[in-house]
Order: sequence, then structure tokens, then C-alpha cells
Amino acid sequence: MKPITLFLISLLFVACHDSPKLSKEKNLPKTPKFGIVIHGGAGVIKKENMTDSLQKAYEEKLQEAIDVGHKILSEGGTALEAVQKTINVMENSPLFNSGKGAVLNAEGIAELDASIMDGKTKNAGAISGVQHIKNPINLAYKVMKESEHVMLSAKGAEEFAMLHDLEFVENSYFMTKRRKRALEASKAREKGISSSEFFLSNEKYGTVGCAALDQDGNLAAGTSTGGMTNKKYGRIGDSPIIGAGTYANNKTCAISATGHGEYFIRNVVAHDISAMMEYQGISLEQAAKRVIQKKLTDLGGTGGIVGIDKNGKVIMEFNTPGMFRATKNVKGETEIKMYKD
Ligand code: ASP
Repeated sequence: MKPITLFLISLLFVACHDSPKLSKEKNLPKTPKFGIVIHGGAGVIKKENMTDSLQKAYEEKLQEAIDVGHKILSEGGTALEAVQKTINVMENSPLFNSGKGAVLNAEGIAELDASIMDGKTKNAGAISGVQHIKNPINLAYKVMKESEHVMLSAKGAEEFAMLHDLEFVENSYFMTKRRKRALEASKAREKGISSSEFFLSNEKYGTVGCAALDQDGNLAAGTSTGGMTNKKYGRIGDSPIIGAGTYANNKTCAISATGHGEYFIRNVVAHDISAMMEYQGISLEQAAKRVIQKKLTDLGGTGGIVGIDKNGKVIMEFNTPGMFRATKNVKGETEIKMYKD
């Protein structure tokens, strides 16, 4: 037998011998890829200012919220559904500045903003200044799905809500003692009467948001808020503004922001992070750090973002002393934090 024939026969032998192993590997079930990350607002959140019971209450609610979204994703549900249902948990809790427990405007009324974006279609829905919608994120979702518009405001948004079976509540449903005290303190400070600085700064933020990647590789993000205490003249922050407070694009990432909205609008924070990834080819982590720690900070803006990229990599970046935040990965490992470290 010629050496070349011998060589070919031995090659064939190795290939046949190895093939069962190879095919076994090929048949292994693929690990699903999905992920979820949430925030419950950024601000002066410090251990020394927190009671054990309040910390526990936040941790439990963040856990409950992230579990809801994670379950939807692990069962093959969409990122959009996970974002919406996760945010609903936080909207229904008085702990956060969204839905029940929202901050009050200068007239003592809760005025709510929300937005949601689908990274696959880049469709988006947003509402601002509504006063009677129990779960504003659900209305933002309806605007995205059932209207030809992206953003509806105040009375018009509520008229649209009536046509789409949204749950209405009295404005008093949203109010809590804590937010009433924060408004009083803010008004007192305006008049030059000193009030607890801690109380004011601690009560400033608390918006909720979520970013998720589903098993089909689709990204989505959403944000829901009462805005900022003592806001006037129909003020609208970044949360309902697509590109500022919320953004999702399957090519890059999904982002939800929280903080001093004016600065997030001026920096177009959520879209800027996505654009850096798309045009500069940098990672979500690099882009988020550059925007939050440099561009936003240089202008004097405070707050943070949560985000997830198309590979499921999560980021929770902020320039404040704390941010309520949580994430849960494919393996079910959860991380819940509120202080810097
Ligand atoms: N970004 C929100 C706003 O400016 C406030 C917050 O995140 O807590 O309306």
C-alpha cells in the first residue's frame, strides 16, 4: 500500500472514531441567552441614612421585580413584556417615584411620565403629564402598539387611555406622606426656610426602569416616573423622551436612565451610549462610563443608567452616592445593590 493511501485511511479512521463525540457535542442543548437589569432611582442613597427595615423593603421589592421579568424571559417571553411587567411591580410599590409613591408637583399633584422602546423594530411609545393612569408604562406600551404616534401628553394621553381599557385611579391613589413631606420641604427651602438637606436630596429621585434581552435576541427598555418634586409649568423630564431616558436598538443595547432629567435630555444620554457603540465600535461598559462619568458629570448632571447589550452583558453606571439596582442572569444569579459598592 502506498504511504499516501495509508495516510488517508488513518485520517478516515480518526474522523470516524471522533465523530460520535463531535455529534454528541453538537446535540447538546444550547444555553439560552437572555438577561435583565433594573433601577429604582439614583441619588444620595447612603448606608448611614438608611434604616435596616427600609433597606430590607427595597431589597425585597427589587428582588420581586427582577424575578417577574426573569421568569418571563426564561420561559421564552419577549423583552418588551418583561420590561413592562417588571416596571409594573415597582410602579405598584410606594417605595419608588413612579405610579404609587410618585413625587408631587408644585400644586401637590402626581403627574406621571413613562416610555418604552422595542429594539427590534425601533418602535417606541411615551406619555407625559398623566394624572390618573395607574400604570403609566402600560399606557406608553399601548401608544407604541395601538397608535400612529410616539408620544402623547396629559389630557390627550388620558383620552387615548380610555379607548384602550387602561386602569384609571384618583390622583390621591399615588400620594404618600413621604412625598407630601418632601414637597413641603422643597417649598420651605424655596422661601429660604431651611429644611433637612438630607431629606431633600434623598427625596429627589426614584424613577424606575428596566432593560432586557430575550431569547430571540431582542432588546427592550422602559422607564416610568413621577418626575421631580415641586416641578412646575408642566415640566417634563428625560424619562418619557426616547433617546434621553430610554433607548433600545438590537444592534447595540437597551438603556433606561434616572437622575436630573434636564441634563439627561441635554446629553441625549441613552441614545448617546448606543451611538458610541454603533459608530465607534466600543463596548457598552466603555460607552456608559464615558457618558455618565465624563460627559454628564462635566455638565454637572447627576444620575445613572442601567443597560444590557445584544450579548446579554449588563451595566449599572451612576455618578451619585447610590442607585437602587438589580440584575439576574441566565443562571438565576441575582445581584441587588443600592450603595456605591
Ligand atoms: N429623570 C427623572 C426626571 O428628571 C427623575 C428621576 O430619575 O428620578 O424626571
